[in-house]
Amino acid sequence: MRKFLTILISLALLSGVAAPALRAQQPSAEVRQASVRLAGSILVGGRAYDYLQSLTDKFGGRLSGSTSYQRSAEWAAAEFRAMGVSDVRLEPFTLEQKLFQEAGAAAVLIPDRESNNAFNAFNLNWGARLSPLPFAHVGMEDAELIARLAEKGQPVEVEFEYQNRTGGAAQTANVVAEIRGRERPDEWIIVGAHLDSWDFGTGAQDNGSGCAMVLEAARAIMSLGQPPRRSIRFALWGGEEQGLIGSRAYVEAHERELKNCVAVLNTDNGAGHPKGWKVEGREDVSKAMQPISKSLLEDLSGGGLSPEASFDTDHGFFMLRGIPALDLWVDMEPYGKIHHKSSDTLDKLDRHSLAGGSAIVAVTAYALAERAERLAPQLERKAVGELLQKANMIEMLKAFGFWK
Ligand SMILES: [Zn+2]
Repeated sequence: MRKFLTILISLALLSGVAAPALRAQQPSAEVRQASVRLAGSILVGGRAYDYLQSLTDKFGGRLSGSTSYQRSAEWAAAEFRAMGVSDVRLEPFTLEQKLFQEAGAAAVLIPDRESNNAFNAFNLNWGARLSPLPFAHVGMEDAELIARLAEKGQPVEVEFEYQNRTGGAAQTANVVAEIRGRERPDEWIIVGAHLDSWDFGTGAQDNGSGCAMVLEAARAIMSLGQPPRRSIRFALWGGEEQGLIGSRAYVEAHERELKNCVAVLNTDNGAGHPKGWKVEGREDVSKAMQPISKSLLEDLSGGGLSPEASFDTDHGFFMLRGIPALDLWVDMEPYGKIHHKSSDTLDKLDRHSLAGGSAIVAVTAYALAERAERLAPQLERKAVGELLQKANMIEMLKAFGFWK
């Protein structure tokens, strides 16, 4: 669900006036020590790559609602339990399907975005709904040929045949594991990545890598032997590729306790060389993150903060509720080359970058859960609307019915 909408919005530079306040919010010596232990245990002798290998080579493509998805979800839950996390659940949700509708056209042909007649998997309409018409995907060059012939007024005939099975609504589940906070257990950070993938390849970059980072962060934080001040919930989402369905279901099911959600850390940009965090258009989040980025993440090559705001992965529905949302920021070239393709397999992954990303996720999650104050407040609806407007997202979100 990349490249759906990515808009850069400018952030004012940090003003000198804020400096004393920032100094006051420097991570404590205890958080620094914990960060050293977390990063050390991930970079040397960590398990991120093992988790990724299991997800990709053992379970293969993890299409939402499929048996391989279900097996991988059960495996992930077992891994969380093996780390000693006591509260681990599969939280079910439904992938809806709607009936075909009457329509005038015979079929819809969608050209791929990439040349060489390559095929990238994607969904036509969000929400796992059936298209009202037969829908097929054609290579870019073939689509251009059809367009050229049609422009000349020549009759163009396209014949295609495919078999498609539809099975009605499907039950599937998010995997959620919680480390209860030692002082403020009712306040929580959520650290998430989507477990589902397309079934061409084995979803290594998109998004086995993100799941491996989430599992590895949980393992490392458990290994500290003492929970942080606030709770941390680790979530592996289903239904992302069909339109962020699992994370949306979670936001709706946990509506009443969302006020206690302090921040969302999402990782779904693959395991390219890390850069830092995208703050999804929040200038206040960027400012509040500076001491953590500078003093804890820079050595992990994760000190950057990007103002980029997008609605293309599982932080999206949390962002709409005004919750501070951060998306792991990495070099996306390795991901862009293979995600949604049959070539999205383990052999393309750089082990060191995967561990580096895992360390950034673990250290950030711990620092935010331990921070005396919340990172930033939740925005009121009006302010969220302004942010979406500024990022040029509001019309698209209204069209999908996500923002009213
Ligand atoms: Zn993804």
